[in-house]
Amino acid sequence: MKNNSPSLLEVDLKLGFICNQNCRHCAVAGKRHVPAPSFTEVCTEIEFYRDRGAARLVLTGGEPTLRRDLVEIVRYAARGGFDDIHLQTNATGLANGQLASQLAKAGLTSALVSLHGPSAEVHDRIVRHPDGFAHTVAGLHTLQRQGVRLATNTVVTRDNVAHLLEIVQFVAEEFPGLCTMCFSYPQVTGGARTHFQEIVPRLSTTTAYLLEALPVADRRGIWCWVSDFPLCGLPGYEEHSADVVPRRAVGTDPSRPDGENRVTDYHRLSQTSKVKPSVCADCDLAPICLGVDAHYIAVYGSDELNPRRVLSGRRPRLL
Ligand code: SF4
Repeated sequence: MKNNSPSLLEVDLKLGFICNQNCRHCAVAGKRHVPAPSFTEVCTEIEFYRDRGAARLVLTGGEPTLRRDLVEIVRYAARGGFDDIHLQTNATGLANGQLASQLAKAGLTSALVSLHGPSAEVHDRIVRHPDGFAHTVAGLHTLQRQGVRLATNTVVTRDNVAHLLEIVQFVAEEFPGLCTMCFSYPQVTGGARTHFQEIVPRLSTTTAYLLEALPVADRRGIWCWVSDFPLCGLPGYEEHSADVVPRRAVGTDPSRPDGENRVTDYHRLSQTSKVKPSVCADCDLAPICLGVDAHYIAVYGSDELNPRRVLSGRRPRLL
């Protein structure tokens, strides 16, 4: 029996780690060998969380569209009465329209599509796949035609940090009506950990380009989230931080090292790799900020952090 939990219970199901692209920053690059859960196992997890009042189901990977049973999985989930059945994808497998149409008919309601550049030159260099940009853009169009609610996700790396404004402008021009984007600072794991200094841009550099892009997104009617980024790097735009949105996120990850595949609190898990160095003690944002990746601080130190005294400056709307 479904209970009506007062807080949104968001479920993240990892459907396998294989992918048809090869992004250098990929957080699951070292997990391709982990066996994907079977259809029966996926259905068991869907039922488990549905029975605990889950409102939102996120299907992710790897690249979920590589599963031949993805339409069946979405159809099965739709019977469970989730408010939102959401797909995280590079959308290249949706370019010809057939799969997008089947998924929409089966009950897919929204998608987060990885878009790492405003052009083939930038995007394809990052995903290391020829025609990746063309196929992703085509996939976005087919999803939009099917009425699937869309957002884009850009992992901000050294290869695209100078192009954030162009990405906003490209999305605004190419996909009128698409009104949510996300700029995700890399999680320092997988490829981003192996090639840390080549991939992860400096916080201060990223702030400068974000402050160029976010006002333009606002003016174009696009809400642009920023994730995994310290609040002091978003002066005046703190409310764009996805890290401080209250939500309960749980899920199942077949690659969990301890063999316990169910994650009971993704928010807390994401905090385990982060630190607040001593300068954060002077910061009024510290109680709601997640801090900065520990490896970043070990390599670059904390000089770029900018502790905020609310009484001495403009009060962030979050406080
Ligand atoms: S707590 Fe630290 S990282 Fe977070 S906003 Fe304050 S100074 Fe920045």
